[in-house]
Order: sequence, then structure tokens, then C-alpha cells
Amino acid sequence: MRYVWINAGLAAASLLWYLLNCAVGGGPVAIAYVAAPIEGGVAVAAMFGLWRAVRDNPVARRFWSTLLAATVSMTLGYAMMAVHAALYSVGNVAPAMPLVPALALGLGFTLAMWAVGRVPVGTATVAERRRMNLDRMVAFLGCATVLWHFGLAPMLTADERWSPQTLLLIGLAFLLTTAGVTKVSYLGDGPVDRAAIRMVVTVGLTAAGVAVLATTFGHDGGIPSQAVVLPLGPVLLVLAARAQARATFGSRRVSRRSLPLLPYLAIAAVDLPVIAIAFGPLDWSGRISLAAAVLISILVAIRQFLAFRDNRRLLRDIRGQEARLQHEVSHDGLTGLANRARFHDALQAALAAERPATVLLVDLDDFKTVNDSLGHDVGDHLLVAVARVLAEQCGADGLPVRIGGDEFAVLLVGGTTVGETVAQRILDALSRPISEHRLLVQASIGIATVVPGATLDGILRDADVAMYAAKERGKAGHVRYVPGMEEPVLAHIQLGGEIRRGLDAGEFRVVYQPLLELETSKIVGVEALVRWNHPIRGTVPPIEFIPAAERTGLIVELGRFVLRETCRQTAAWLAEFGPDVIQRPAVNVSARQLHDPDFVADVLAALAENGLSTDRLVLELTESAVLRGSQVSRTLHELDRLGIKLALDDFGTGESSLSLLRAFPAAIVKLDKSFVDGIEIDDANPSARDARQAVARAVVQLANALGLETVAEGIENEAQVEQLRGLGYVYGQGYHLARPMAAEDFTALLAAQRGAVTA
Ligand code: C2E
Ligand code: MG
Ligand code: MG
Repeated sequence: MRYVWINAGLAAASLLWYLLNCAVGGGPVAIAYVAAPIEGGVAVAAMFGLWRAVRDNPVARRFWSTLLAATVSMTLGYAMMAVHAALYSVGNVAPAMPLVPALALGLGFTLAMWAVGRVPVGTATVAERRRMNLDRMVAFLGCATVLWHFGLAPMLTADERWSPQTLLLIGLAFLLTTAGVTKVSYLGDGPVDRAAIRMVVTVGLTAAGVAVLATTFGHDGGIPSQAVVLPLGPVLLVLAARAQARATFGSRRVSRRSLPLLPYLAIAAVDLPVIAIAFGPLDWSGRISLAAAVLISILVAIRQFLAFRDNRRLLRDIRGQEARLQHEVSHDGLTGLANRARFHDALQAALAAERPATVLLVDLDDFKTVNDSLGHDVGDHLLVAVARVLAEQCGADGLPVRIGGDEFAVLLVGGTTVGETVAQRILDALSRPISEHRLLVQASIGIATVVPGATLDGILRDADVAMYAAKERGKAGHVRYVPGMEEPVLAHIQLGGEIRRGLDAGEFRVVYQPLLELETSKIVGVEALVRWNHPIRGTVPPIEFIPAAERTGLIVELGRFVLRETCRQTAAWLAEFGPDVIQRPAVNVSARQLHDPDFVADVLAALAENGLSTDRLVLELTESAVLRGSQVSRTLHELDRLGIKLALDDFGTGESSLSLLRAFPAAIVKLDKSFVDGIEIDDANPSARDARQAVARAVVQLANALGLETVAEGIENEAQVEQLRGLGYVYGQGYHLARPMAAEDFTALLAAQRGAVTA
């Protein structure tokens, strides 16, 4: 800031002296030259400081180092002029400007404008740059023509000749300033402050402007106007440095790129010389002005043509983009089918037009298994293949849609095609392997037709209910909606809500069914079975609510409760009856729980909280739960590594029992009740009895061969115990041995057993 004050003070003093000189005259003319070199020195100091401060930014550094050189050059010119004036002025008449200082000043101007010219404009595209260059040419020519016609040309043709040095300088100032001004109006915010650049450009502008004024009002014959003109340059230079310093180190609002209105102003301005020529004599300088005006009109025409061409291209691009966007919002990205939004629109339109419409809701059966076991890429390919099948099968009759996930729909409008026909066509097409992975998928299809007064939500809900019914009826089929169909579905949904409420109200409890050693009838284990004490329905058996809990995902929370409760109870029994009373409590686990990423952590936490080690727990899983893809398989192996025993529940009822035993880290096999039923019937025909016992025998032999423990489930009489023991079964469970019972009853049983042993 102090640099600004110094230079402003010096300039003011110089002006004062000039006014004094005009009023009363006197004083050596050389004084007019004294202020400028001192100010120049101050400006050099300011620039140097700034140049050091912005060193880190290459663009700013280049600008300010060039400007520093320019200032040094100008200051040298000022100094030489001052010395020259001191030596050669005669009275009140200054000597003509010598060549060397003029060159130094000229070099200073040129460097300053060069610095401005090199500041990058930062435009993006080639077309944009081309347009901008044309604009700048127009602006430059327009400004230059005006300055030429009213400034430079009259000076050149004036009666009283200017010294060639002064003319050179003023000409240079005109040219460079015009170039600078046109440049500045195109600059955005960058490392070099725009206000600073404007100041620099104004240095030339001031010189040129003052020169024009001097020409108009008679040039410096005898009056040392240098005292006014010369000190202005360095003032502007220190102002520029100050602006940059504030922009870089202070907090100043960011300036906006000024509207590039300059070309239009320039086009308008060029009319002034043309009008002047129209009313005056046409000399050679006038011809130059006219030629410039013509050139400008040509450039403007080119500029308009380019803009027109660019606009046309832009419009084409925008239309293309619009079409793409339109497609994107109405279509599914993966399969390219119409999406839910488009489906809704089309259905709404059909409803509004009261046209008959049928909706097919297509849901892939067990798609999750494909995704989990084969990966999402394969799943995606499968969805694309299914989409293709749908598109082929509806043909021109319908609109195939991907609703989301593995759910698709077909909208048939017009009533010419029966929904069942299309549904069957789709199912037939899906009965052959599809996609590049040759996968066989099945789908369940719900069909609903618009009835008078139907709403969009209503028809979709009907189709959904029908689809749900199709799934319930064994999948791979289609079902048409009939009124009343939703009741069981609704009951199911209601049950889900009831379970939620029951969980919060603490209506669930755990009963325990003992596991006995068949030889000794000694209790060795226990299976935890969940019960629901419903306030209205009474005790609800798990068969009724476990499927609903699985579907709603509430099984995860329910299972967690059973696990914790069982661990807590087991710890209490161990504390009361000693560590050998129960080897391991068994807890049933659903497939859905195995998909829960926190499952292993939950199990470990339940054990740890009750001070039980991992080998104190058995998890019972059905074969279908185990066969759920790689994630489940990883979970099971992790549990096995942790020492938790896994039991295959209801063994023998699944499909791939035998191979499963090798692939799956099972420690216990529980023979399903269906193979125990009737095993004891003493048939006269030995082969018929052998047939009944075949599975039970095969399972125990296989288990023994693989080193697995065996448990027979659902034993209901003593004869079955005998048979199973004969076949080699060691452990058993069943109503005959002990029914599931409350924890207190089991405690009493354990106490009785201890009493018997002691006795
Ligand atoms: P499961 O794991 O095979 O359990 C054995 C079922 O057979 C139990 O039925 C038990 O009461 C019954 N049972 C035991 N001995 C006999 C017998 O001699 N005769 C007959 N007729 N039945 C016998 P429950 O408690 O109704 O459980 C049914 C199924 O519900 C269980 O089959 C299990 O798959 C599931 N479940 C029970 N509790 C839970 C649980 O906490 N979580 C999960 N995920 N599933 C559970
Ligand atoms: Mg079980
Ligand atoms: Mg079972």
C-alpha cells in the first residue's frame, strides 16, 4: 500500500507543479521529468516483491517477471529522459525526445503488453477458441480504426509535426493498448488477477488518451505536459501490483468474466469514422479507415456463419441427447426393456382409454440361488436372456417390461391375445436352457385383467397375488387372479406383522426336547424348539409361523432370540448339574439366517456371553438350507473351523443327501422321522421289512464310514428303539423317549436322573 501512496504523492506533486507552471510560469522545465524515474524505481521495488511472492505459480510468475522487466525498461527510459532534459532544456522549452529513451520506453510498453498477451484465456473447445479469435480481431480492428481515424491519423497529418520518437511511442501505445483491451475482456479468473491486468492495459491507454487530448487541444509546444503524463504510468503499475497482492493474499470477492460485448461496441464505433468520412474529404488515412470497416464487416459475416454452423450442430447434439435421455428414463439399463415408469404410463393410458388390458407379472423362480452360487455376472446375463425371451414371445402383441430385480411384466392391450396363451408361450420358451451359460430357469406368472373401474394399483396388486399363488402352487406355472385369492396371502402378510408384534411383546419361548443314548436311556443332549404363546390363538406350532418368519426376514431376530435363550439356559444347567450333564444343546437354523452376514458373530457372542466354548453347541440345518450357494458354504466352513458342530436335520428327505455328506462339514446326521415310522412293523415277509429299513440302514452305514454321529428322530415306541439300536443307531429323540418340555421340567428331569445315579 505504501508504494501506491508514494507514487500517487509524487504524481500529485508533479501535477501541482505543472498547474503552477501554467498559471504563473517559470521554473526550469527539467523538473517535469523528475517524478517519473523515482516512481519507476518504486514500481520496480513493488513488482520485485510481488514476483517473489507468486513464485509458486508458473503463470503468475511469468506475467510478473515480464512486467518487472517492462518496468525496469520504462524506468531506465524515464531516467535517461530526465538527464537529457536537465542537460539540454533551454529555458521553458524541453528538448525533443532522444531516440534511446524512446526505445527504452517502447520496449517497456511492448514487454508489458506481451505479458498481458501471454496470460492464458482458458477456453475449452476449438470452435469456441475460433469464435473468440474472430471476436477479438473484430474488437481490435474496430477500436484501432477509431483510434487511428481520430487520434493517430490527425497527428500524422498535423501541420505542426510531432517528433518521430513521440509518434512511435504513441503509435505503439495505441496498438498495444487496443490489443490488451480486447484481450482483457475475454479473460476469466486465473492466477493473474484481472484487475491487475486492467491496470497494466490502462498504462498504455492513458498514454494514448492523453496524446489524443494533446493533439486535439494543441500539442506540447512549450508546455511541459510530461509532468502530467509521465508519472501516471508508474502509479498504475503499483496499483496493478497491489490488486494482485490483494487477490492472492487477501480475501477479495471473485470477479466475473466481463461479458464479451466489446466486438459489438467496436462494430458500432467503426461507424463513427465512416460517418465522419461521409461528411468530409476522403484522404489516404480515410481510405485506411474505410478498408478497416470493410474488413470488419467480412469478419463479422464469417463469425455469424460459424456461429450458425455451431448452433446447428449444438441443436442436433441436444436433440440426440434428449432422445437418449428419454430412452434412459423409460428403459431398463441392463436389459433394454421398458422400465416400471414406462409400464405405468402405458397401463395408465390403457385405463384412461378404457381399452381392455391384461397384465402378466413374471417372477423368476430361485433367481437368488443363481446369483449367489454363480455370481452376479452370470445372473445379469440370465436376466438379459430372459428379457430377450419375453420380447420374442410377446411379439407385437404386448409391451415387455423389467419391473426390477428378477421381476418382469408384460402388458397386453387390445384384448386380441389371451393372457394365458402368452404366459404359456413364455413358460415353454423358458423350458429350454437360455443365456450363454445354458441355464435352465423357471418362472411363476400371475395374470390379471382390467375390469371396469380398475385402478393401476389395483390391477398390479391382483397380478401380484396371482403370481404369489403360482409360486405357492409349485412354481413354473401361471395363475389367473380370481377375487378372494388374496386372502391366504393377506393372512400370510398379517402373520408377518403378528410375529413382529409377538417378538416385541416377548410371546416367544423355547422348549427343550431331550436327546437320549438308546442303550442306557441317559440324557446326553437337548434340542431347542421355539414356541409362540399367542394371546388369542394359544400355542402356535413352528410349522405355521417359521415359513412366514423366513419370508419376512424376522427369522433372523427370532433365531437370535432362541440361540441366546438356549445358551443362557444351558449355562444354568451346567452350573447346577456339572459340566457333563449335557454334552451339547442343539439349535435349529434357517437358510435365511445363514445369509445374514452377522450370523457367525451372533453365534460367537451368544456363547461368549454365557461362558460357553464353541464345542458346546450344535446347529441343525436342513439339506435345502445347506445348498444355498457359495456364501452359505463359506459360513458353514467357518463355523466348522470354529469348532461348532453342524447336524444335518431331517436327513434322507432331500435330494442330494449322499454327495452332500462329503461336501458339507457335518458332524451329525439326524435320520428323518419318516424313515423311523413303521420300521418296527414285524412283517411276515422279510423283504418287505428290509425295504422299510433300507434307508435307515444305509444312512447309519454311510455315517459310520464317514465318522459321523447318528441320531434317529421321531421315535414313538419301544419297538422302534429296539430296531434302531439293532441297526447301529446310538442316539435317539422322540415322544416315546421324552416330549419337548419347558425348561423347569427339563431341570426336574435332570435332577431325577442325578438322583437315580447317586442312588
Ligand atoms: P425338527 O428340527 O426336525 O424338530 C423336530 C420336530 O419333531 C419338533 O417339532 C418335535 O416336537 C417333533 N417331534 C419330536 N419327536 C417326535 C415324535 O416322536 N413324534 C412326532 N410326531 N413328532 C416329534 P416342532 O417343535 O413342531 O418343530 C418343527 C420344526 O420347526 C422343526 O423340525 C424345525 O425345523 C422347526 N423349528 C422349530 N424351532 C425352530 C427354531 O427355533 N428355529 C428354526 N429355524 N426352526 C425351528
Ligand atoms: Mg431340528
Ligand atoms: Mg428334524
